[in-house]
Amino acid sequence: MIETDILVIGAGLAGLTLARVLAGHGEKVVVLEKSKSPGGRLSTRRSDFGSFDHGAQYLTSRTSGFTSLLNEFSQSGDLAPWDPNGKDSARSWWVGKPGMSEIGKSMARDLDIEYDTRVIGIVKQDRKFLVHTEGRSEAGPDYLASRVVPAIPAPQALELLTPLDPAFVRLKKVAMAPCWSAMLAFDARLQGVPDLIRGQEPDVLSLIARNGSKPARTGETFVLHATPQWSREHIESERNAVKSAMVSAMRVQTGLDENLPDPVHCEVHRWLYALVETPLDQPFLGNRENTLFACGDWCIGGRAEAAHQSAQALARHIMSL
Ligand SMILES: Cc1cc2nc3c(=O)[nH]c(=O)nc-3n(C[C@H](O)[C@H](O)[C@H](O)COP(=O)(O)OP(=O)(O)OC[C@H]3O[C@@H](n4cnc5c(N)ncnc54)[C@H](O)[C@@H]3O)c2cc1C
Repeated sequence: MIETDILVIGAGLAGLTLARVLAGHGEKVVVLEKSKSPGGRLSTRRSDFGSFDHGAQYLTSRTSGFTSLLNEFSQSGDLAPWDPNGKDSARSWWVGKPGMSEIGKSMARDLDIEYDTRVIGIVKQDRKFLVHTEGRSEAGPDYLASRVVPAIPAPQALELLTPLDPAFVRLKKVAMAPCWSAMLAFDARLQGVPDLIRGQEPDVLSLIARNGSKPARTGETFVLHATPQWSREHIESERNAVKSAMVSAMRVQTGLDENLPDPVHCEVHRWLYALVETPLDQPFLGNRENTLFACGDWCIGGRAEAAHQSAQALARHIMSL
């Protein structure tokens, strides 16, 4: 059994922000992450044809705290502006360099993080919490902590926390939409197609983004996101059917129709909890004893900045105890 003061579940932007602030103030913090790398939905997949940011596309900032973080990564070279042809906002857009996953990698440095470690249950043990984990193919170690913070999507936090404390039934209020994401590469430039196209219901695709137009990327690569409604309707669809429906939608939504060549590379990823539809509307959730908490983008809204804001608010609260 491994003992720590604070156990954070999830190495996405919220978990990493929280762990960074608390560890910076001398707290003993361990982060458990089910994937093999940090970043959560700020993620990048590599291929022989180039990389793909198949989750969040870009970051924007409205708060001084997040602006400071973006400045820090911009100065270290891990972040760069993206000004795609087709940009539909006056705000600055920032992307990880060479991929969105660089942000998580950079934040994870110097933190105590166990990867390939999924939390499968939490039980109360005297005044502490015993946290059960599993690895990729075998049982993982147990952890004992005084405070536990799932920084994971609300429906997943609900499963872990409601058996422990009724305060967390409030998580049921939060709604999160799924998103099918497709990663496509072509062997020649698609003439006349802007770097960014938005769609809306009844379109199949909410976004067509030329990933290769972001700084430090190569290849004629595209990321497609299906709308929440289409993703929901096809949540259990077979991957090949999803691929061909999304490529067909790209033909229509780019206006290339039959002139769109077949991609030389195509894969899809299903995000079960991609975008926040109904947030909690408070910065974080906690129990009366201040021993169990939950934070993440879903507390505030559907953008990466919200994950950062939520975690910062919780870090301030924990440090004030
Ligand atoms: C398709 C898509 C497009 C998006 N576009 C944008 C955009 O353009 N701009 C923007 O600002 N935001 C965008 N977002 C939203 C943004 O990515 C999120 O708001 C932000 O990354 C959420 O961070 P988080 O830390 O709250 O959660 P997450 O990133 O989901 O992190 C949670 C982490 O917990 C881990 N985890 C879950 N359960 C367990 C468990 N039981 N045990 C251990 N680990 C666990 C997960 O593997 C993950 O790493 C997009 C998201 C998606 C999916």
